[in-house]
Amino acid sequence: MNLRSPGPTPCPPDVLQAMGRQMIHHRSPAFAEIIGRVTDSLKQLFETKSDLFCLSCSGTGAMESMVVNTLSPGDRVLVVSIGVFGDRFATIAKTYGADVTKIDFDWGTAADPDAVAQALQKDGSYKAVCVTHNETSTGVTNDLEAIAAAVRRVQPTALLLVDAISSLGSIRCPVDAWDLDVVATGSQKGWMVPPGLAMVSVSERAWKAYEQSKMPRFYFDYGKAKEFLAKGQTPWTPAISLFYALDVALRQLVAEGIDGIVERHQRIADLTRTGVKSLGLELLADERCVSNTVTAVNVPEPIEWAKLYKLLQDEYDTLIEGGQGPLAGKIFRIGHLGWVTEKDIQVTIAALRGALPRLGYALPETAMA
Ligand SMILES: *Cc1c(COP(=O)(O)O)cnc(C)c1O
Repeated sequence: MNLRSPGPTPCPPDVLQAMGRQMIHHRSPAFAEIIGRVTDSLKQLFETKSDLFCLSCSGTGAMESMVVNTLSPGDRVLVVSIGVFGDRFATIAKTYGADVTKIDFDWGTAADPDAVAQALQKDGSYKAVCVTHNETSTGVTNDLEAIAAAVRRVQPTALLLVDAISSLGSIRCPVDAWDLDVVATGSQKGWMVPPGLAMVSVSERAWKAYEQSKMPRFYFDYGKAKEFLAKGQTPWTPAISLFYALDVALRQLVAEGIDGIVERHQRIADLTRTGVKSLGLELLADERCVSNTVTAVNVPEPIEWAKLYKLLQDEYDTLIEGGQGPLAGKIFRIGHLGWVTEKDIQVTIAALRGALPRLGYALPETAMA
């Protein structure tokens, strides 16, 4: 199956094979060696010297962990939202009793850093700003560097909590250079590993907030994670097989290097956008902020999304994903992060070229050949 979802993403054979290995104990030296190596490699790719933890959960668990480890009920939080995942950040913070103000930007556009700065200026002191680096629901990448700089200019002490779940490991996100406080990603996105691990980095500023934070937490307590990592362990039983997989995947990613990884994702994203447009289709996202990990495409007339979704799987062995929330039925999304090559994209575009006319879509003359 040509799995072109923005998560889970396909995994290389050696990464999958690594998971067939027998269990080791998570309090043994053998596990300590793996978690030590994995943590060091992740720090290289996060471009951070801060603490970094691997949590056994999906990306949403990591988002929840950011909230419960740094905030207290009643804390004022500014959530910058450009889509489904920004909204989810706001919901999580509200669920735990934070006083959330959400600043929304049209779906398909990026957040305006000046507008974020103005919101901070107008409303006084926020404890934290939550922001999505790459909005997977709309195929937009925020200018996180500019947003972070704007926050630091207006309110230097605010925490920057960043959902980089579908960007880190694919799109550049230098955590220390941009002075980000807690930054999260998930194994099933660009990391070429099955779902089930989430990785978070925690800055000095975030640790100070942790000391004050009064939100309830147990499983996701960063203090416990730090205490156990010092012994080469996790506080609770980790997803050991996924650590085997991550260890193998990180060897490949570190060997390729950040520049190589970022350049490859840029190249393949360009190919995807060119291919989609050659079929006469339009992108949802503003061209100035399109994502290099996921491309959102407007479902054209007279196509019914559910039929296209089924036809692509049944007869073209290709899965692309639909829209979420208000975008359901209106867009589809092609994932191109992690273990992806030019060939995978060519196959995907060919599948669309075959399937769309069968459902009544008129291809442009130039796409006929
Ligand atoms: C996938 C994703 C999430 C949620 O991750 P789960 O692993 O499904 O819990 C959150 N934010 C972004 C930007 C994502 O791409």
